[in-house]
Amino acid sequence: MDQQSTIFENLEEFDNHRLISFVYDPKTQLRGFIAIHRGGSIPAFGATRFWHYAEESLALKDAIRLARLMSYKSAMAGLAYGGAKGVIFAAENYTPEEKENLIRAYAKKVNMLGGSFVTGSDVGLNDDDVKIMAQESTYIVGTECDPVKYTVRGVYAGILESLKSVFGTDSLRGRTIAIQGLGKTGWGLLELVAKDAEKVHVFDIDEKKVKAAKEKFPNVVPVSEEELISLTVDIFSPCALGGTVSLSNAEKLQCKIIAGSANNQLENQEAGRKLFEKGILYAPDYIINAGGLIAVVDEYDNHGTDEERVMKQVERIRPTLAKVLAKSKEDARPVSDVADEIAESIFNTIQ
Ligand code: NAD
Repeated sequence: MDQQSTIFENLEEFDNHRLISFVYDPKTQLRGFIAIHRGGSIPAFGATRFWHYAEESLALKDAIRLARLMSYKSAMAGLAYGGAKGVIFAAENYTPEEKENLIRAYAKKVNMLGGSFVTGSDVGLNDDDVKIMAQESTYIVGTECDPVKYTVRGVYAGILESLKSVFGTDSLRGRTIAIQGLGKTGWGLLELVAKDAEKVHVFDIDEKKVKAAKEKFPNVVPVSEEELISLTVDIFSPCALGGTVSLSNAEKLQCKIIAGSANNQLENQEAGRKLFEKGILYAPDYIINAGGLIAVVDEYDNHGTDEERVMKQVERIRPTLAKVLAKSKEDARPVSDVADEIAESIFNTIQ
């Protein structure tokens, strides 16, 4: 951090963000945050999360932390844009009509930033929501392409590269995997891995999703939230919310690889170092889950989508990860530190 902000100095997540704004609409009672980490002079990309947080300050922290991660993601994917994030503070319960009013009001707030912030759907928002937001704002992406499909492809490629690095072969045959979260990306990943993996342990707070997984795939084994983290598996794949791996729970991990779709899987840098000490390969979230960002940036740049063009870029995720893993081995340093340094050297040139 070059110079500390007086308001945000106590927030560990703060990293001289270029803009942090509170969005409020009295009519719909919209409350939320938009944070731009790097960018502004050039557009900053980051999807919007619609989530019920225990308190508003947690939503602010999430926006700040996720915006920062988006700069790392953009840099490692070779995209010439900044990183940002939007968070809508959802009530515990809401009707579809209330949600629609909130996201329409939110999209109008996005317009106030005049294109500095471009957004789409993250946790809690789906394709239909994105289409509704796009009726109110031209700075909404993901109406043409299906970002989730590309996110899943990138994460899957990251898992294969991690397997190769640890076991010398990228085959999933005979391997065991634990997936945390069976939402859009977790379910997509399950569909790709279930056909080859020996066993897929799953947990989601939504029991219906776990039941559906069990019914669809014979090798799915539902587990409890407590069991999930300490399972002896080859791969642990966090595909829910962030902060899954902390210094305190890293001790319990019995997996060889951590590779999933969730943003901000590590609670902090120390957690990444702990994984390295324990000999667990961590495939940095922002490298392997960049497929969706790649797809929406492509849609924005080209005013439309093209599967072949997007896939070509998504395919670069695996060699990018391979390079970072090789450097980590060569320097005997945590993958998370090595990846962060490379990304920072790229995005710190952005205003
Ligand atoms: P989603 O809303 O479709 O799914 C999230 C799932 O996680 C839901 O099924 C929810 O019930 C479950 N969940 C929440 N808390 C949980 C917990 N404590 N334990 C187990 N399950 C829990 O979201 P998504 O689009 O699949 O995104 C998942 C993660 O991947 C998020 O961190 C998101 O930021 C990240 N991500 C998504 C994309 C994308 O293309 N959608 C791209 C990059 C990163």
